[in-house]
Amino acid sequence: MAQILIFLGPPGAGKGTQARVVARELGIPHISTGDILRAAASKKTSLGLAAKAKMDKGQLVPDDLMCPIVEDRLCQPDCKEGAILDGFPRTLAQAECLTAMLSRVGLDEPLVLNIHVEPESVIKRLTGRRTCQTCGEIYNVYLNPPLRDGICDQDGGQLVQRADDNEEAIRIRLQAYDHDTLPLIDYYQSKGHLRQVDGNEEPEAITAKLLSFVKTHDYL
Ligand code: AMP
Repeated sequence: MAQILIFLGPPGAGKGTQARVVARELGIPHISTGDILRAAASKKTSLGLAAKAKMDKGQLVPDDLMCPIVEDRLCQPDCKEGAILDGFPRTLAQAECLTAMLSRVGLDEPLVLNIHVEPESVIKRLTGRRTCQTCGEIYNVYLNPPLRDGICDQDGGQLVQRADDNEEAIRIRLQAYDHDTLPLIDYYQSKGHLRQVDGNEEPEAITAKLLSFVKTHDYL
């Protein structure tokens, strides 16, 4: 049965890194709403330009823009076997709209995997983050540097820093997380859909834990 997985956690918890690996392992798509918005911003679509103004400041993009983007994406044929949502939902309103859209599309309630990290460790993870412009591989100049400065090990692509990985935007993103996203932990916990993973462990150990939760969940 198709299963939607939600990767929850503060900015810098490693959601994107883990979602890439787990999606590859399970053969389901990795849907990052941040990546969708950044792609729209670089194409300068009207959605992209509206989103960029918010993203660069570290603010959330309004729910009424986000929900249709995710519903459109989940209706694509490659989501038939399930998908990983990374960065969505981020507010209670988005969680409610996801529940409604999953029942419209005929999918079960999601399994929510919360990657827990201490707030102090997040700044280093975010300021050090670099992403390959070509393949999206994620590095960290302090914690997981590439072999050659600024160059992706996988395909030689250029590594870039996100516009919102600066201290001011990070501060606002963490506030938005505390205020808008943290309540989702109780929301999904009370439905019995939440599993906790320690984001301070080695990346391979985190991946193994995430996969074990998925595999013991009876869906995939
Ligand atoms: P991320 O790549 O998940 O860190 O997202 C980067 C930025 O995109 C966020 O700081 C928000 O401005 C915007 N964004 C991504 N997903 C959402 C969402 N589900 N709701 C609102 N804003 C979002």
